[in-house]
Amino acid sequence: MKINPLFIFGFLLLSFSTFAQIDYQARAKKNIDYLIRNEVLLDQILMNEEGVQIFASAKDKKNENPDISVSWKNVPFFLKLLENNKSNVQGIKQNAELSELKKYTAVKFKEQKKPTSIKGTRIVLDPGHSAHNLETAILERKFMKIKGEDVGSSSDIGFYEAELTWATAKILKKRLKKKGAKVYITRKKGKSSFKTNFNKWKKKKFKNELQADLSQKIITQKKYNWYLNEASDKDIFKYMNVKDLKNRVKIINNLNPDLTLMIHYNASGSKIKNGFYSPFKNNYAMAFTGGGFMTNELNTLEARINFLRLLLSEDLTHSIALSDAIMKAHVNVAKIPLIKNKNNVRYLQRNSVYADAPGVYCRNLAMTRGVKGAICFGESLMQDNKEEAIALNKKNYKEARVKTSKRIKDIVDAFEKGIIEYINLN
Ligand SMILES: [Zn+2]
Repeated sequence: MKINPLFIFGFLLLSFSTFAQIDYQARAKKNIDYLIRNEVLLDQILMNEEGVQIFASAKDKKNENPDISVSWKNVPFFLKLLENNKSNVQGIKQNAELSELKKYTAVKFKEQKKPTSIKGTRIVLDPGHSAHNLETAILERKFMKIKGEDVGSSSDIGFYEAELTWATAKILKKRLKKKGAKVYITRKKGKSSFKTNFNKWKKKKFKNELQADLSQKIITQKKYNWYLNEASDKDIFKYMNVKDLKNRVKIINNLNPDLTLMIHYNASGSKIKNGFYSPFKNNYAMAFTGGGFMTNELNTLEARINFLRLLLSEDLTHSIALSDAIMKAHVNVAKIPLIKNKNNVRYLQRNSVYADAPGVYCRNLAMTRGVKGAICFGESLMQDNKEEAIALNKKNYKEARVKTSKRIKDIVDAFEKGIIEYINLN
C-alpha cells in the first residue's frame, strides 16, 4: 500500500496541534517571577508574542544577538531536546536552531506528569554532604559540637550533618520501597558520590582532577600549584565538594526520577568559639526549589539552558507543590515550625524568592538548578537548637539496620507523609 505523504503530514500536524494547546507563554509568564532574584537579568531575556530569547550578555540583547531562541510553538521540541541531550549543552544550543523538519520530533514529546500512585514512582534521595567522621566533618564545615555545660549536660555534644542525612535517606528508602516506589540513593555511608571518602579521594584522585582541570583551562597553573603545595585540607575538601555536587546532578538526571529529595539539616551559623557552637534558641524548617537567579548567574551556557528549562517546563510548579506538601508534613508530623516569610535570614532575604508557599523558597543552588523534574531541597530543622541538638546526639532509634536518633525517625515520617500527600494532589 502506498501511503500518501500528505496524509502523514496532516497526521503530524494534528498531533502537534494537541500539544500546542498548552499555553507556554502563560506558563513562562507565571514562572519568570520565581526565576529572577535580581532584575538586572531581564537585560538578558526577551519574551514577546513570538517566543522567548535568552542572551549571553546585556550587550548581545542590544545587538539583537540571542544565544538561544525558542518560539512558543517550538517549546515541546526544545524540551524534548533537553531530555535527549542530558548534559551536552553545546548540542542543545546547536539543535535549538530549528529546521522545519526537526520541529516534528516535538510531536513525540510528552511532559513529565506528576505521579498519581506511589507504586512504580522513581524517587532519588540525595543525602547532603559526605564526611565519614566528626574530624572530616570539621574540614567540611558541616559539624555540630556544643559544650555540655551550655545544654545542661555532663558531656559535650558532637555529631555531623552527613551522617544524619544519610541515616534519613537510608530509612526513608526502606519505607518508600515497601510502598512500591523505586528508590535510589546518590551516595553510600561516609562517602561522596565518587564512592570514596575524602581521605581516599585526596590520596588517589585529587592530583588527576587538578591535572584535568589544568589541561581544560578550568584552573590556572598558579592555582594548580597553590592547590598542590599550599591549600589546606579545608580548601581541598571544598574543591572536591564542587565536583561532588556536579556529579550528583549527573547521576540523578541519568536516573530520570519522578521526584528527588535533597536532604539537609540546617544550622544558625552562630559564632563558633574554640570549635564549639553556642545553642540557638529558634528552630524552623525550610525548603528550596530552583529559581531565584541572581546578578551574573546567567553567564554560562549551562545556566541559561537550565533557566530556560525552569521557565518553559512544569518542573518548578511540581517542585513547589512537592516542597509545600513536605513542609506541611514537617509542621504536622515532626512538629517543626516553618520559617516565617518575614524573617531576617540573609540568604532568604537576599538570595531567594518566596515561592508563595510557607517555608518554600526559590534559590539558585548547584543542585536546585541542575536536577530535572520535581525536587525538594529540605532543611528540616536547626541542629544547633538546644532541644534538637540534645535529641540528635542520642542513638536511641533503629530502623533499616541504621542506629540513629529518634528525631531522625520524625523527619523520615514527615518526608514520607509529604511525598504521599504530593502524589495524592489532583
Ligand atoms: Zn547541608
